Amino acid sequence: MNYDVIIIGAGPGGIFSAYELAMLKPNLKVAVFETGHALHKRHCPIDGETVKSCIGCKSCSIMSGFGGAGAFSDGKYNITNDFGGTLHEIVGKKRALELMHYVDEINLRYGGAGTKLYSTAGTKFKKECIQHDLHLLDASVRHLGTDINYVVLENLYAHLKNKVDFYFDTPVESVAITDGGYEIVCKDASYTCEQCIISVGRSGSKWMERVCKELKIPTKSNRVDIGVRVELPADVFAHITDELYESKIVYCTKGYGDRVRTFCMNPRGAVVNENTNGIITVNGHSYEDPAKQTENTNFALLVAKHFSEPFKDSNGYGESIARLSNMLGGGVIVQRFGDLIRGRRSNQNRIDEAFITPTLKATPGDLSLVLPKRILDGIIEMIYALDKVAPGTANDDTLLYGVEVKFYNMEVEVNEDLESCYKGLYVIGDGSGITHSLSHASASGVHVARKIAAR
Ligand SMILES: Cc1cc2nc3c(=O)[nH]c(=O)nc-3n(C[C@H](O)[C@H](O)[C@H](O)COP(=O)(O)OP(=O)(O)OC[C@H]3O[C@@H](n4cnc5c(N)ncnc54)[C@H](O)[C@@H]3O)c2cc1C
Repeated sequence: MNYDVIIIGAGPGGIFSAYELAMLKPNLKVAVFETGHALHKRHCPIDGETVKSCIGCKSCSIMSGFGGAGAFSDGKYNITNDFGGTLHEIVGKKRALELMHYVDEINLRYGGAGTKLYSTAGTKFKKECIQHDLHLLDASVRHLGTDINYVVLENLYAHLKNKVDFYFDTPVESVAITDGGYEIVCKDASYTCEQCIISVGRSGSKWMERVCKELKIPTKSNRVDIGVRVELPADVFAHITDELYESKIVYCTKGYGDRVRTFCMNPRGAVVNENTNGIITVNGHSYEDPAKQTENTNFALLVAKHFSEPFKDSNGYGESIARLSNMLGGGVIVQRFGDLIRGRRSNQNRIDEAFITPTLKATPGDLSLVLPKRILDGIIEMIYALDKVAPGTANDDTLLYGVEVKFYNMEVEVNEDLESCYKGLYVIGDGSGITHSLSHASASGVHVARKIAAR
């Protein structure tokens, strides 16, 4: 089967390249190959009762399938160049913002109308942060919520399904160079195309590394972010989250000069497991529908580590720490802040007696046996700093789940069209190591589709 364009991966990057190609060049023959299931078939078997922890499904419904890793996410579209990726370094700041606004408009058109757009512009909280040596990054945040995000994906699929050929449950094994383009090799068949967009996200990181090695596409090592997910009563952060929804706050530790930052804030949300290549880490999300909201707010506190010489494998370092936590806790570990400070593990009794009900069933344990001292010291320092702008953050009952690891794909060398050293072979989204968010990944998809259409 021959296509004009083949897209590998149906996450936000792949979906938005398909969307834009179908709109700009409806006559092009486009196919999308996806390891995971169609959206309506995506179900994680963990129900907290019969299945309590990850059973290692062949394709993880949380990370794979139509909608990619973002399908059950909080649907926070951050419109900013300050975080979420470095797309602006490739396409320019103005263009990157224009692309993100364009994606936002499409999301609104396909089900997101009526959702709130929060902004840090003019907030008094910025000054309050600086007074306590905390730095609030600028952004506008569209919060779709897990529920509306799903509706948008359903509508986008309904719009695309007759314009593009979708191959679900069809992992691409390899990409080969042919005379006029590329051969996409799957288990039972091969397909050819003139142009190929690779958008395999974080779950495709190992695959991407292999393809780059096989095709000799230059790459650079990237950083890894390691830390914990903090969960506390929603009231503690309500004055901030009610105004900004998500606040990205950066703190420079006095001890080591490391930067610790808040990440992925979920007001009245839930903490969830995340499975990356069989390693269980923690994440969080929340619903737009008040009926589905909880009494807790969660966010991550992360410290970035980047290794270059002689050890280059930043992700490998993060994986080892996550494996250690999985070894000790059988999955995610939860500890009360008070227990961590007193140097004792949390047990089920202490968790049950706390004035907060955990939203994730995790193993009570001791995070100091898992996280390197330098990282843990930084997190503790940040918790005390946040306590000054959100009193109650450093309460004994504040829950810390570990570990949260943000793996970044190695950075693939691409030009301003997001094209690799091979003409017509593009690498976009989180799989390129350039984006790390819904908005940047989606924007990269639109960008590449426009470039292909212009050719
Ligand atoms: C629980 C959770 C919550 C999140 N919340 C937010 C949030 O609120 N805001 C935000 O900005 N970001 C969030 N993120 C991150 C966000 O989801 C990603 O940045 C975004 O999905 C990246 O899009 P992508 O298209 O590059 O990759 P992905 O969404 O990872 O999609 C890649 C797709 O490629 C497929 N694939 C991989 N390898 C192959 C192969 N060989 N053949 C065929 N298909 C393949 C995968 O199955 C996957 O479906 C969250 C992530 C998680 C896991």
